Amino acid sequence: MNSWVEISERRLLGNYRLLAQAAGGDTSVLAVVKANAYGHGAAVCAPVLAQAGAEWLGVADGAEGACLREALAAAGIERDSQPQVLAMCGSLGDDVELVVRNELTPVVWEQQQMESLAAAVRQRAGDTAPLPIHLEIDTGMARQGVAPGEELHTLLHWLKRQAHLRLDGVMTHFASAEVAGSPQTVIQMRRFQEAIGAVTAVGLRPSWVHVGSSSTVDNQGAEQNPAWLRSLASTVGARSMVRPGIALYGYCLPIEQSGSDGNDVASTVRSELGPIMSWKTRVISLREVQPGDTVGYNATYIAEKPMRLALLPVGYADGLRRELSGSNLLPGGWTMVRGQRASIVGRVSMNLTVVDVTEIPAVTVGDEVVILGDGVTADDHARLAHTISYEIVCGVRTASRLVP
Ligand SMILES: *Cc1c(COP(=O)(O)O)cnc(C)c1O
Repeated sequence: MNSWVEISERRLLGNYRLLAQAAGGDTSVLAVVKANAYGHGAAVCAPVLAQAGAEWLGVADGAEGACLREALAAAGIERDSQPQVLAMCGSLGDDVELVVRNELTPVVWEQQQMESLAAAVRQRAGDTAPLPIHLEIDTGMARQGVAPGEELHTLLHWLKRQAHLRLDGVMTHFASAEVAGSPQTVIQMRRFQEAIGAVTAVGLRPSWVHVGSSSTVDNQGAEQNPAWLRSLASTVGARSMVRPGIALYGYCLPIEQSGSDGNDVASTVRSELGPIMSWKTRVISLREVQPGDTVGYNATYIAEKPMRLALLPVGYADGLRRELSGSNLLPGGWTMVRGQRASIVGRVSMNLTVVDVTEIPAVTVGDEVVILGDGVTADDHARLAHTISYEIVCGVRTASRLVP
């Protein structure tokens, strides 16, 4: 194993409980484990979340949902006691069958999607229970969801006559949840509120109303807070739910103040979250270089003094971003060796990376190296790679295992 990922069970539980507490009252938490739990390993994280009491888990599609059902069963959680699983990104073709067979709850917004789901339910011999579905309202993302107004009205009237489908939930997604006082969010909230009104006006009674991501729980300066959601859900006799993803794994988007130049706003929730992933490797070789020696592809680093370099068997093929390469003029990323920073020198290559351990003389071959974890976060990598923590952790293509 060239590298491995350790997932801290204690921190994952801590993050989940913190979010459940911040959601407050009877607002449920749907733990988003799509994209293999943001690169952390859904098979490792989901059983922990289920045992912690998560009523819902969120995946992208039927294929992810099928793997999740299997992983939960393998962890000794029988189907009857497994959380409900929301397939959030729409289903097409073979995916429809996977949704029905694995008793997932699909997010839908077009009649055609619902027709193919209903057909798949009908084909299941002896299965007469209608399939629960969650309807997404497009309140301003222009990504998924039915437009409020005429389009929604038509769809609801059609849905009401379907024997094989049951409207179990209504949801929307905010485009700017991490912006405190966002005018866009205020507009989206109003549209969603009106859509909920349209749902009940045709006599449909969803059990769940849900919105929002990590930022909804974390962004305490926002209007779209759990208390607003709770009161909206209660007007239709439904339960409320929020859908945090990245915060479960210990990261957040910076909260921005609408109209300002992007200053961070403090949040008590985020200050208590802890990254759960430690991505580690070992030193496989050591060498000394002399002043003038160059390191790596295109000689982007030139030793200015005698240096001791450590070779790591990890590169961009494993998800270590090439933007973390370090040159003499532009320092790159770093790793942690024996509790000290070891800077990346030269280009990160496909399977190999060189770090400077001149100031850490005790280093030997076989020493453990932290690529991501305590001392070097996904936010650090994201800043250098001009992206967000989400893309960094999703890009770690290494199997994970649970540690206490
Ligand atoms: C991914 C996703 C979330 C979770 O978002 P985070 O920012 O990771 O908390 C919530 N809702 C929907 C619809 C999503 O696709």
